[in-house]
Amino acid sequence: MAARVPSTGLCLAEVSQTEPRGVKRGEVLSAGDAADCNVYARTLGRELLGCDIQVQIARESDWPYGATYGRGTLTFNLAKCGHRFFDNGVTDDVNRALIHEFGHHYESDHLSEGYYRSLSDLGARLARLALTKPELFS
Ligand SMILES: [Zn+2]
Repeated sequence: MAARVPSTGLCLAEVSQTEPRGVKRGEVLSAGDAADCNVYARTLGRELLGCDIQVQIARESDWPYGATYGRGTLTFNLAKCGHRFFDNGVTDDVNRALIHEFGHHYESDHLSEGYYRSLSDLGARLARLALTKPELFS
């Protein structure tokens, strides 16, 4: 139901927000701290959502979630993800988290039919992208 970012159970949409909150309260790391993941997430955002997204890394221990997405901004919470999330390049955990969060580009309600369809479409688009542009995944 929620993004399977390690040590998380919820994402921001489950708290009924569409805009990341608390980033300003916590330490916001430069995107360079997870540069490869940042580039990959922005590339997938462009390819799968058809728009440019912003990616930010926060360290917010009060957040119960590892990632959030709202209003074109993807926020990874390093306090919940941990550095290992970013250390191994494109993994199933990274793709799972991106599909989950990008699903919120279309729908915030995890239990809605629209969210289900969004996840299904994103999975299909990701598979097609891997077949047509494999260089993006190396
Ligand atoms: Zn979610």
